[in-house]
Amino acid sequence: MIVINDKSHCTGCTACVSACPVQCIVMRRDREEGFDYPVANPDMCIRCGKCDSVCPVQNPIEESKPYEAYAARCADDLMKSSSGGVFPKIAAGVISQGGKVYGAAFDEDFNVVHKDAERIEEIEAFRGSKYVQSELYSTFEDIKYDLEDGRMVLFSGTPCQVAGLRKYIGKDDPMLLTVDCACHGVPGPGLWEMYLKSLSDRYGVIGHIAFRDKGRGWCHYDFNVNHKVVPYMKDPYMALFAQNMTIRPSCYRCPVRNGRSGSDLTLADLWNVAEVVPEMNDDRGVSLVCVNSDKGRDAFESVRNCLDVKPVKYEYAIRNNGGFADYVLMPERRTEFFTGIHAAKDLHAYMSGFVVRKSLPVRAYKTARRLLVKLKRMILK
Ligand SMILES: Cc1cc2nc3c(=O)[nH]c(=O)nc-3n(C[C@H](O)[C@H](O)[C@H](O)COP(=O)(O)OP(=O)(O)OC[C@H]3O[C@@H](n4cnc5c(N)ncnc54)[C@H](O)[C@@H]3O)c2cc1C
Ligand code: SF4
Ligand code: SF4
Ligand code: SF4
Repeated sequence: MIVINDKSHCTGCTACVSACPVQCIVMRRDREEGFDYPVANPDMCIRCGKCDSVCPVQNPIEESKPYEAYAARCADDLMKSSSGGVFPKIAAGVISQGGKVYGAAFDEDFNVVHKDAERIEEIEAFRGSKYVQSELYSTFEDIKYDLEDGRMVLFSGTPCQVAGLRKYIGKDDPMLLTVDCACHGVPGPGLWEMYLKSLSDRYGVIGHIAFRDKGRGWCHYDFNVNHKVVPYMKDPYMALFAQNMTIRPSCYRCPVRNGRSGSDLTLADLWNVAEVVPEMNDDRGVSLVCVNSDKGRDAFESVRNCLDVKPVKYEYAIRNNGGFADYVLMPERRTEFFTGIHAAKDLHAYMSGFVVRKSLPVRAYKTARRLLVKLKRMILK
């Protein structure tokens, strides 16, 4: 029976909940940090061990490198996507073959949840990274049902969600295509719920959120609330996410990154585009596509002609990208941050107090680099 004694040993993937034959496990939110963890009812448990056998943390797979890696982007349709807009093309390919796509979207209250899409228009809701751990609810059971029904399914999520789904399905189903994102960590839905309230105090009723607004350029990493653009360092939610303060305990020693999710494709931001593929460097976003399986290769090849694609050297392309790091450093003040947060009168001010500001020389260097990119773009036009 699943028992969480150490929170860093649970990614919250929900595989155990879906696998329990007597439905005696529920996901419950921890009050301190706002992440969901499974809780089993010992009185209902029949000691079958299924929950333990599907847990990707207890049953890890070996780290592996992709078969091949590409810089890719859909140059005429990428502004609403977080990097190169590769995911919507792959999703549209699956739908056009009669398949179903599952991805992370906002609900009507701007909570982040997994939804399904059967029409190409519905894929739009999945565009854009949402930096909150999404609620999966019955997604894994729904996918099992679709596969049993002979349907093709594309599931996109974080590596831990993909790892959990694959363990729950239990075999490499030829009809299931999985795409994960590179992931350095994810904040919990409890913190996001609190932050949403503070955003509505500042900006009124929330009608629009984008975690990665590209209006001023992909590299700016701007947050957008109600069509007001906020530089990420001025938005404490985004700044603390980027500084790894608010991510889940399991993210600091992620057990499923770097090929260990078993995904068919991995999508990431190709942050060092300037060095790897300078000809694509126009500050609108470029994806790094890692092909991890034959199935992934077929899916990528089927949409390749709609994209600008260039093969890249994997080791070179992932340099300085936290989503591929072996581990992420936990900030010293993390415990203090979560201990004090519930007593904070002004959440925005409280969170801002934990943001580490960059020194003047670092800021000057970054501004100079940004200006150089703009200048190059103007010259190339
Ligand atoms: C929590 C998180 C952390 C990330 N960290 C890194 C990183 O460290 N380095 C890096 O290079 N890239 C990271 N990414 C991935 C990157 O931001 C892009 O999502 C990815 O490159 C896909 O871009 P795209 O333009 O092809 O897709 P888009 O068209 O922008 O589509 C977004 C895709 O991401 C999925 N998605 C969005 N939000 C979530 C969520 N909360 N949970 C699960 N799936 C989600 C959607 O289902 C969809 O498939 C992270 C993404 C997330 C969600
Ligand atoms: S051991 Fe079996 S019955 Fe008990 S919680 Fe795990 S899956 Fe459910
Ligand atoms: S990692 Fe997933 S399967 Fe393992 S205990 Fe946590 S929620 Fe359950
Ligand atoms: S860093 Fe690992 S454990 Fe954390 S959300 Fe990403 S994939 Fe899951």
